[in-house]
Amino acid sequence: MESFKLIELPYAADALQPVISETTIGFHHGKHLQTYVNNLNAALPGSGFEGKSLEEIVRQSGGGIFNNAGQILNHNLYFLGIQPPTADNKPVGKLASAIDAQFGSFDAFKQAFTQQGATLFGSGWVWLSADSEGRLIISQEGNAHNPVEQGLKPLLTFDVWEHAYYLDYQNRRADHLAALWQLVNWKEIENRFLA
Ligand code: MN
Repeated sequence: MESFKLIELPYAADALQPVISETTIGFHHGKHLQTYVNNLNAALPGSGFEGKSLEEIVRQSGGGIFNNAGQILNHNLYFLGIQPPTADNKPVGKLASAIDAQFGSFDAFKQAFTQQGATLFGSGWVWLSADSEGRLIISQEGNAHNPVEQGLKPLLTFDVWEHAYYLDYQNRRADHLAALWQLVNWKEIENRFLA
C-alpha cells in the first residue's frame, strides 16, 4: 500500500530565522510531523481509509486516524505556506483585493487573524478559508481540526500549538504570531484561493 510521506520543505531549516529557529524547524518538521506520518501509516491497514486522500480521511474519520491525518494536512498547509522572511510582506493579486474588500484593509485583516490566534484556548490552528462563493472566513480550530470539515477551502494557517513556538518564544504566543506575517508566502496562498 502506498503510504503517506513527510513533505520536503521548500527552504533550508535555518532559512526562516530569526522568526523561526533551525532548532524549532528540526523538531517541528523532523520530529512532530514525522510522528503524525508514522502514526497514520501504522493505523491505516484494515481501517477502511487506505487509498483515500488526507482531505477525505479528515472529513470521514474519527479518533486516532482523524487526529494524525488532520495534523498532517494542517502542517502541510502551514509549512508549504511560508517562506524566508520578507520585509513589508503583503498579499498579492486577487486575494489582496478580496482581503481589502471584505476586511477593509490588510492591517484590519491581520489584526483580526492575529487576535483569533492569540485567544484560541489550548492547542489548535487559526485559519483563513474561502467558502464556495469565494467569501473569506477567519476561524479557530482546536487540536487537529481543519476547515475542510465544514466544506471550506483552507488558504492560510498559523499553528498555535506550543511546539510551534515554545523553544523560540516560550509563553509569548502573540509575539510569535506578529512575527509570522514576515513569512507568509502570499503567492502560494493566492494560488490556493484561485484553485
Ligand atoms: Mn505543529
